[in-house]
Order: sequence, then structure tokens, then C-alpha cells
Amino acid sequence: MTVRTRFAPSPTGTLHLGNVRTAVFAWAYARHHQGKFILRVEDTDQDRSTDAAAEGIIRDMNWLGLDYDEGPYFQMQRLARYQAVLQQLIAEGKAYYCYMSEVELEKLRTEQKAAGQNPKYDGRWRPENIPPGVTPPANVKPVVRFKTPLTGSVVWEDAVKGRIEIQNSEMDDLVIARPDGTPVYNFCVVVDDIDMAISHVIRGDGHVMNTPRQIHIYEALGKTPPVFAHLPTVLGNDGEKLSKRHGATGLVEYAEAGYLPSGLINGLARLGFSHGNDEVFSVAQLIEWFALENLNSAPARFDAQKFEWFNTEHIKRLPAQELGQALAPFLPENARTQPDKHAAIADLLRDRATTLKHMAEQTHYFFARPKFKPGLKESFLTPTTLPLIEQTRQALSVLNTWDKTSLSACLKSVMSDAGIKPPALFMPLRVLLAGTTTTPGVDAIMAILGKEESLARLKC
Ligand code: GLU
Repeated sequence: MTVRTRFAPSPTGTLHLGNVRTAVFAWAYARHHQGKFILRVEDTDQDRSTDAAAEGIIRDMNWLGLDYDEGPYFQMQRLARYQAVLQQLIAEGKAYYCYMSEVELEKLRTEQKAAGQNPKYDGRWRPENIPPGVTPPANVKPVVRFKTPLTGSVVWEDAVKGRIEIQNSEMDDLVIARPDGTPVYNFCVVVDDIDMAISHVIRGDGHVMNTPRQIHIYEALGKTPPVFAHLPTVLGNDGEKLSKRHGATGLVEYAEAGYLPSGLINGLARLGFSHGNDEVFSVAQLIEWFALENLNSAPARFDAQKFEWFNTEHIKRLPAQELGQALAPFLPENARTQPDKHAAIADLLRDRATTLKHMAEQTHYFFARPKFKPGLKESFLTPTTLPLIEQTRQALSVLNTWDKTSLSACLKSVMSDAGIKPPALFMPLRVLLAGTTTTPGVDAIMAILGKEESLARLKC
């Protein structure tokens, strides 16, 4: 069997951590099994769906690197298909038109509640229940209802939650098409998952109660249901429903803050997935290790600081060239003209940055001469340090090789000649080169700045 999974977001808002995690798991499962991953935009709720949200979802999926083999499919482009299946079910007696008005339905509900019963449609328009001589009212646009079995139960072995059984008596005849003829989610999802040959439905556990409904429709269409894997909710670290209060929850916010896609995927995966004691892992490792059995059936807790830590760890591990490329969009405008420096700068700052944005904030002096805060130069350029700086500048000016090793050796020899310790020399050099006292090693900075620029900055 070919594994085929899908991510089926509704384009009613932006992707947030909860639904992106679902996408990560569905994607990793398909990739692990060399299967196919499909993107389907569930846009039949036209009041709430927008093109902008759909575009945002596609952009965010691309940014994260969750590539799909098919799609994006749009449900609104498949309406004819849904109509055909609806008509098939009606023709086979598995669904029927129901002419009960909203007012009648409300009245029934009130009566049932008053009698201490659970409100439930009573099946009055099931063809077998229509008394002889009763004809459909001309002024009511009917809905289409699915004939739910009256007895028995639906059972499935959920790949995350284990065996789930729901009694059919708890369900009424589901409305599968609205009065205007548009089909509803629970119906479209089944038609799509059948047509797209989905083998594993991996989704949030908000859909557990929809699953028996969907299984009924599979059975009515003579199809075997896929494997269902329902993922527990993501909660905040206090156990409450995840919200802004717990930190950024939108994917875009992470992209804009300079998170690496691999760091974010790592953090998202750890919201439910585990592999021994491994905390930090690459996307390739996630694919290699991913198994539905390794998903926790208890809700995961999101911790913003932990996410930042994952990002820091991924920044430390990314090859310099890639890190430089990832950093580039965050760099100031004047950095664009010096792309050859990006990798070296990123490599130098990788241990000092939590995000790419944070890293970029530390790069200003590589691309422009430093601006000095009032008093800064005065406190570091003193009658003692000025001759040392000049001595250093002269020693550097005769260097033939301008790399970190030769620069470091040159600085050492200046210090030993002058009989001084590193801070006495490095602090004033830092100030002149970078306009700040907190920088990586001056040898590394000068290696990136180049000879001409470094010597110019050291000229007092
Ligand atoms: N459009 C549904 C949602 O966003 C997807 C449900 C499913 O995966 O079946 O919740």
C-alpha cells in the first residue's frame, strides 16, 4: 500500500502552531514511507474563507519546507464531483431530502429538552417514515440528510488514541448538503479522501466526533475507511488552551522573528513526538524516525522558551553557507552588496544569536563604519592605548596573509612585545573596529572586514 497523507486546512486564518504541527506529522509520515503528501484547501465555508488566507497557507508551507506532491486542491473547484456523489447516495436510498424548517427543528429540540432527552432530529423525512399522502412543502428548500444506521456502533482503532467506539444511537441523520445545495465538511472530506486515495488521515482530535460520521459515509460508498490518527491538542505550558498569552502562535511571527524552518519543525515535532531521549534533531532525522506509535496520546504543552532554545541549537548546527543565506533577508540594505561576507559573519555569530533577527542586529559594523556613542572613544583611546593601537596597525599593515590565524599570531606578538594582556589591546581595537565592546574576536572581525577596511578603522 502506498502511504498517502494530506493536510487539509480551512483558509479562514493564518497557520498557527497547532495546525502546522498536524501538517508536520502528516508530511513526516508520508516522507518516512516514501509516500505522497497532498495539500487540500477546504474552502467550502465561503463566508469565512479568503483567497489571502489560502495564499498565506501555501506561502507558509513553502517557507517551512513542507513540500507537497499533489495540490493544492481547492474544494470549491470540486463542487460538481460532490453533487454527483450526493445524487448517487440519494438514488441509492442512503441519503434523502429533508423539508423540516428551522422553526420546526427548533420546536422539536425544545420539546426534547423539556422531556429530558438529548436534542436530535427525529428522522421524519426518512422516506420510510413519511406518512402516505404527505408531500414536500413547496416553499421549503430541503437539506440533504444522510441515513445514519439506527442501531449498532462505529469502532475504529485510532493510531494515536487507540480503540474508539461510538454508538449510532448517539447520532442523528447528518445534514450533508445545505438548503442552497452546498455540501458540508463531513461529506466533502470523505469524497476527497476517497478520490485522493488517502491512506492515513492525520489530524487534530477536534475531529474525533466527526469520524464516526465519516466512517458511515465511507461504508455507504462501499469504501474502506483510511487509518485515522487523531492528535491531542497543543496546550500552553500552564495546561490552558494555547493563546497569545503563551507566546507567538502564528507561523508568520516565527518566520519574521528569524526562526529557522528546521528549528521550528524540531520544536513542533517535539509537541507530541519523541524518539528516545533525542531533543534536537534534523528534519532528515525526523523523517527517518517518524512513526505514529511514537506520538503521545496526552496533550502536548507549548513552551515559547523551549522553541527559542531549539532555534538556537539549529543555528549552531546549520552549515555556514546555508546560515548566511538564511540571515541575508534580515541584514540591512547595505549588506546586500556584500553577499560574499554573509556566510562568514553568520558562522562567527552563530553562538551568540537566538534568532536570525537577533543575529542581524549584531552585524551593523561589518557593513558600515561604526557610529560611536558619546564618550566611548574617550574612555578606550587613552595616552596608554593610542601608541599600542598604532603599533598594532603597523604590524598588521605588513602582513601578507590576511586570515584569522595570521591575524591572531600578529596580535599575540604585539602583546608580548608590549608586555600586556589581551583586554588591554582588544578592548580599544573592538571599539575602533565595531563601535562596541561586545563582539566576537577581533581577529575574526578583521578577517571579514579585510585588510584595507580594518587598517582604515584603526587609524586614529
Ligand atoms: N479543514 C479541516 C480543519 O481545518 C480539516 C479536517 C481534516 O483534516 O479532516 O480542521
